[in-house]
Amino acid sequence: MENLALVGLRVLRGPDWAGGDEDGGEGHLGTVKEVLRNWHVRVLWDTGQESICKAGAEGKTELRIFDTAAVGVHHSGSLCSSCGEKDIFGALWSCVDCTTCDLCTTCYVLDEHDTDHCFYRLDFQNAPRVAVGQRKASVRLGAVGLLPGARVRRGKDWAWGDQDGGQDSEGTLENYEEVGPLFKRALMRVRWVNGGTNIYRVGFKGNVDVVCIEEEARFFYYRDHLPCLGTGNFAGWNDEGIISYQAACSVHPDEGDGGINSHDKDKRSRSALLETANGAEGGTDLPAKAEDISDVHPEDSSVAQNEDCGKMTLSFEKLSTNKTERLWVLKN
Ligand SMILES: [Zn+2]
Ligand SMILES: [Zn+2]
Repeated sequence: MENLALVGLRVLRGPDWAGGDEDGGEGHLGTVKEVLRNWHVRVLWDTGQESICKAGAEGKTELRIFDTAAVGVHHSGSLCSSCGEKDIFGALWSCVDCTTCDLCTTCYVLDEHDTDHCFYRLDFQNAPRVAVGQRKASVRLGAVGLLPGARVRRGKDWAWGDQDGGQDSEGTLENYEEVGPLFKRALMRVRWVNGGTNIYRVGFKGNVDVVCIEEEARFFYYRDHLPCLGTGNFAGWNDEGIISYQAACSVHPDEGDGGINSHDKDKRSRSALLETANGAEGGTDLPAKAEDISDVHPEDSSVAQNEDCGKMTLSFEKLSTNKTERLWVLKN
């Protein structure tokens, strides 16, 4: 079983939105901070405001899920037909007409592949696929928030002293930082006006170190193609806000004979991921014995940053030993 934590999901307002403009308006992003009782969640919007939202309460869903990469959802063994991303993180989009075409979310919203073609959305491995129709005939909106290029200031979860140059200093989000194979789009590099640069949490375990201080759309989404929190594959979490699902199946459920044995495939991709991490250039510095990551889960991890040198340490609790082990350090 694999687990998907609701805390850390990147969201935006959904079909039953009943709030005002505390989210910043349609298309503004936020992060699930806490799972409350009775199918409600607390969201921290990228603007710094908070709301309590219905996530299945009274049959209503006030949130759409923009991205699951920050909570570690990925599709082992998959490959984006357009950009070549391996083990696609977040939703995987699979063309109904062309069985060989899978897209990552970035390529999907940037209209790679024929926009006349209908797609399935796969929320996670082995999830029932969801038919979403043609992009050509769908509403595509701009997404505003903590995305590459946005201007920011320190936010609610800020814990890094005066790295930013002081309370009201501004900075620019440069790009996502990959911290090994378990997460994507959970950490970003900020360049502050004082010239300093460092890595901050943008959804990692529900922590958001900065707030967005601009209104410019930096990305897109097909509104009606996104899943809603509290429905379909995103219903039925436990008291800790965890959805458990069976992982490691074929990306194409009807691939049948001749497909790669899903278990082997999963194992292989895990070792491939470790190799990738070991051989990564420009920052990731794995300790000598990088062990099999099948024993660790995203929700048992934490990240810490050394204020003086800016090094980021990611720690995992190993399920077998209950011991916390540091897996790698991201150099600044
Ligand atoms: Zn892609
Ligand atoms: Zn196609």
